[in-house]
Amino acid sequence: MEPVVKLLADLVAIPSMNPMGRTRSGREYSEQTLAEFLAGFLKKSGIDVQLQQVAPGRPNVLAYVDARASKTILLEAHLDTVHADNMAVEPFDPVIRDEKLYGRGSCDTKGSMACFLQAVLNVLARGSLKQNVVLLFVSDEEYRFTGAKYAAAQGLKADAGIAGEPTQLRIVRAHKGVTRWKAATRGVAAHSAYPERGKNAIYTMARLISRLEEYAATLLQQSPHAGLGTPTLSIGVVEGGQAVNVVPDQCWIEIDRRSLPGETAGSILDPIRSLLHDLPDWEFQEPYLSVAGMDVPENAAVVQKLSASVKEVLGESIIESAQYATDAGIYAAAGIPTVVFGPGNIAQAHTDSEYIELKQLQQAVHIVERFLTR
Ligand SMILES: [Zn+2]
Repeated sequence: MEPVVKLLADLVAIPSMNPMGRTRSGREYSEQTLAEFLAGFLKKSGIDVQLQQVAPGRPNVLAYVDARASKTILLEAHLDTVHADNMAVEPFDPVIRDEKLYGRGSCDTKGSMACFLQAVLNVLARGSLKQNVVLLFVSDEEYRFTGAKYAAAQGLKADAGIAGEPTQLRIVRAHKGVTRWKAATRGVAAHSAYPERGKNAIYTMARLISRLEEYAATLLQQSPHAGLGTPTLSIGVVEGGQAVNVVPDQCWIEIDRRSLPGETAGSILDPIRSLLHDLPDWEFQEPYLSVAGMDVPENAAVVQKLSASVKEVLGESIIESAQYATDAGIYAAAGIPTVVFGPGNIAQAHTDSEYIELKQLQQAVHIVERFLTR
């Protein structure tokens, strides 16, 4: 078995599922075992490595390879995967069939992780590394991005970055951000036979919701970003009331706002607050998730070097934008222009028969090797 395939199989065999706020525990719902495996793997390869404890059982892996070069590249991938309930394939016992490796995380995003590691080792072995490398493997990308945020807050430094996600070897140089928060309305409970004695929190919320619906429509009228279109807003959850014979004293919703690069949680929430200012008895909670969008210029060195490397291996390179948010937005906001790139297809991510094509995995290694020698 080729070294990168063996490495990927080892990574997939270690469960690192994100509990994603649900009451699930045990080491398989933690990044700890995988982080320890990676630390051991890197040490054995003679690379300095440390674990950052983001939260109990939720570490980041941070390693530094000094090439005595003037530039430093960040190669990043997340440790966590989504859960493996009801999968049609063995989630943690990787099987290779028809030149595909099946298992949870094979595509999202242990394929990228194996590719970065193998490429760095191969280039080091040949003595042709032309950039210092920061290898960063973070926890909790699938839920709240806390690993990437922690790493950035600890003073992560690099001249540019590549965040590994399944892009089918396309270079995603811009993507949207996302901010999510809860809004609540308060009322006064009463027996439903005497509704005039209470105040109905659902009626209040209904007015709030229709304002937000109108606002969402105005967002679509904004002049669009060239690659990303317009911002969007969607209400995804509504909950309220205890019983049909009680006037509800509480109602809440969850709001998902997709942002363009440059927008911040403040610039997103302030106009919505003022739009609702004349409505009574509502409040916003602090956003529980906020990741900035990013837009690395096409002529940035990281885009150009990566594109040249992709062309050498595949014959052509595709540079594009994406609607989804990734850790790259966090590094970009911290001053590290970071693109998204990796083997695998997002269409297979999170599915019940997740796989990665081995050919793409091997091509990715060749591409990153060439990138690191530039
Ligand atoms: Zn991912």
